[in-house]
Amino acid sequence: MPMPSPFRMPGWLRAAGLVVSLIATPVAAQQPAPAPAVGPPALHPPEVSGGQLTPEQASYDVTYYDLSLRIDPADSTIGGAATVYADVVHPLDRFVLDLDTVFTVSAITRVGEVGGAGPLPFERRGGRLWITVPTLQPGERIGAKVEYHGKPRTAGRGRFIWAETDAGQPWMGVSCEMFGADLWWPVKDHPSDEPDSLALNFTVPVPLVAASNGRLRAVSDNPDGTRTYHWFSSMPVNNYGVSLNVAPYVTITEQYESVAGDTFPVTFWAIPEHEAQARAALPEFLDHLRFFEELLGPYPFRSDKYGIAEVPYLGMEHQTIIAYGANFRNDAMARIDWGFDALHQHELAHEWFGNMITPPDWHDIWLHEGFAQYMQPLYAESRLGVDKARELMRLMGARIRNRQAVAARHTQTTAEAYNSEIYYKGAWILHTLRFVMGDAAFRTLLRQWTYPDAPVPVTNQACRCRFPTTDDFVRLASRVAGRDLAWFFEVYVRQPALPTLLVTREGDAVEFSWEVPDDLPFPMPVDVLVNGERRRIELPEGKATLAVPGGAAFEIDPEAWILRAP
Ligand SMILES: [Zn+2]
Repeated sequence: MPMPSPFRMPGWLRAAGLVVSLIATPVAAQQPAPAPAVGPPALHPPEVSGGQLTPEQASYDVTYYDLSLRIDPADSTIGGAATVYADVVHPLDRFVLDLDTVFTVSAITRVGEVGGAGPLPFERRGGRLWITVPTLQPGERIGAKVEYHGKPRTAGRGRFIWAETDAGQPWMGVSCEMFGADLWWPVKDHPSDEPDSLALNFTVPVPLVAASNGRLRAVSDNPDGTRTYHWFSSMPVNNYGVSLNVAPYVTITEQYESVAGDTFPVTFWAIPEHEAQARAALPEFLDHLRFFEELLGPYPFRSDKYGIAEVPYLGMEHQTIIAYGANFRNDAMARIDWGFDALHQHELAHEWFGNMITPPDWHDIWLHEGFAQYMQPLYAESRLGVDKARELMRLMGARIRNRQAVAARHTQTTAEAYNSEIYYKGAWILHTLRFVMGDAAFRTLLRQWTYPDAPVPVTNQACRCRFPTTDDFVRLASRVAGRDLAWFFEVYVRQPALPTLLVTREGDAVEFSWEVPDDLPFPMPVDVLVNGERRRIELPEGKATLAVPGGAAFEIDPEAWILRAP
């Protein structure tokens, strides 16, 4: 998801965050990040995504979703059925799914080989469906088909967007990272559980096209003049990464040869008015892809595709079909002139950071956004030069607020975890980490974070999707650096205030000392330019003295690597 500008959290989200914070269970500091906390059942507002996992939802592991929906732009409705299959991991007699209260549920039936078919009684509690099932034991499977219809929400930070092209044709998209996928289908709305694969069948009026995740298996024409697009994702997808884009799209496809040696299709679904611009943009987009493959390893979803769908909103990292609404402008994202199409580059970065690597709790969402955000200055440095990269870092640094920790230790919902710090401060933390580790070690770290197994297998069938945490990243960084870097993350990630570098000069001696909240250890070295000569000052105890000839000019951190209080 791109950083909106200017960032302002809407009132309903603040309210939702407040509701959930009352039932959140803090975890003591210094503990490793836990598995999602399990709490008592509550009247769960549909706006809340993630957070505490109820015992009922912790009792199953989703294996497969099948969505078969009819999309009707004429009256802004969707309707059809969603079938959910799951493995039972703890005994359960209630199968609990999330679904927005705006929908009418007409029936829920049991499907699958165990227990046969038949209607299932259910009740609605807030934004959840409580479906009564015969008691199931670990090792058994549950399958339920939910038939529903209605008008999905069109306002807020999770919504359907019903728009029109310049020619007056319907143009529709959906973005639901903040709200959760229960905005439009029955789902276990939690980042810790992804299906192994999913089928997406969308019926739209001719001549509209439905672009979605994975591969297009078939297109079928229906007697009523509609057309059904049958998509299938062969890979796990995080819930908000499931998408639907509808417009009278034209498609532009290139075959792309991966660094892994195999070839996969890259397709741009553009609205007809923008076909020429889309064609002109594609070579740069493919260069973004090349950059990421060389830095991070092969594109993770080569067995499906890479797709770009033009949408009537800014953007979102939907897996294998990113939403692109930058209108071919380099300054569409955060009103910064990045020097390239940063919105596309940012969303593509999420295929590694967010889609392949998905933290199981939203409190670690900086592992999506901070990493995706740092890819823009890294790309600028590679293609436009270090001066442009430093300019971008300076612009991002000016937006850091230091109001809350980048990654809390307790479980969080999207509303609690989401703020501008996960972007700009997250990116700056990685920049400073690169200084501490050195460039080569930092690149090794990135590569081992995306692909821990060496060598990277060339097969495009193997799923590399993982659910690591901030603590996993800290451990890996320490291992790659060959020394414990926990101090670095304790100061920058786990608490909000920045360290301050105090500098005093007396005669020929300049004293440096770090002032850090709670006197946390902070042996951060500092580069100093003395009469044009760069020197690295080590501060093992957070202090150091440097002899500087009287009157000599000196400049601290001349290349602006260190995130610190101004
Ligand atoms: Zn993002």
